[in-house]
Amino acid sequence: QPAIRIDNLVKRYAGQQGEEGKLALKGVSFDVPQGGVFGLLGPNGAGKSTLINILSGLVNKTGGSASVWGFDIDSHTRNAKRSIGIVPQEIVFDPFFTPYEVLENQAGFYGIPKADRRSEELLEAVRLSDKRDAYARTLSGGMKRRLLIAKAMVHSPPILVLDEPTAGVDVELRRQLWELVNDLNARGVTIVLTTHYLEEAEQLCDRIAIINHGELIANKPTRELVEMA
Ligand code: ADP
Ligand code: ADP
Repeated sequence: QPAIRIDNLVKRYAGQQGEEGKLALKGVSFDVPQGGVFGLLGPNGAGKSTLINILSGLVNKTGGSASVWGFDIDSHTRNAKRSIGIVPQEIVFDPFFTPYEVLENQAGFYGIPKADRRSEELLEAVRLSDKRDAYARTLSGGMKRRLLIAKAMVHSPPILVLDEPTAGVDVELRRQLWELVNDLNARGVTIVLTTHYLEEAEQLCDRIAIINHGELIANKPTRELVEMA
């Protein structure tokens, strides 16, 4: 069973004043195998975020189907959502909370009992233990991104999706984030990341799907894709 199955997925956004809306996904199909690092590559506007947002339930699809860890996103929405952790591009936590509080609140949101929470362990995994009780606003950009990754892992999803994880970050931070992605993958988490950097996809991913204008134009093991180029 694949980690994610996407079958003929279509998204048309609502248009304005009788105009036809944007057709952001034109019938996209692919599987994400379990256990690997899967790259969804494409230029800005290709439909990557739309696809991710459909999987996480933020955007409604127009047609087709998708399942996450075997759970259909329509009929088993809750289980599908719980099988995935999403690391968004923008910083989504309160600057006056501490990293520890951010993780505890998130655990509360998922209804995880105190005894089953693993905030300390997650802070350790993203190397933020020494910032446990600092205000989030005092963290560096890199620390904030690492906290976002920890936050996405609070409910122990088997799949972690990172939306443009290194957009606008410097070389050193990019290297750190790549290392963290590899660490998590080594612990058995299936990774999906979107990127518009071919180099990033080549470095990190064992399989790459390319979308452009809402259409899938390639889906291959990285090695084969690189040989073609
Ligand atoms: P919908 O209309 O599909 O419910 P939203 O409520 O998210 O979508 O957005 C309302 C309107 O804002 C859209 O119909 C669109 O015109 C515009 N819009 C929002 N986000 C974007 C975007 N990323 N690119 C282009 N247009 C956008
Ligand atoms: P990517 O993540 O690959 O940059 P997106 O999924 O954000 O691409 O966008 C795909 C297409 O859908 C773009 O043409 C974008 O302008 C459009 N789009 C995205 N969100 C909305 C929205 N809420 N309403 C209307 N159009 C949108």
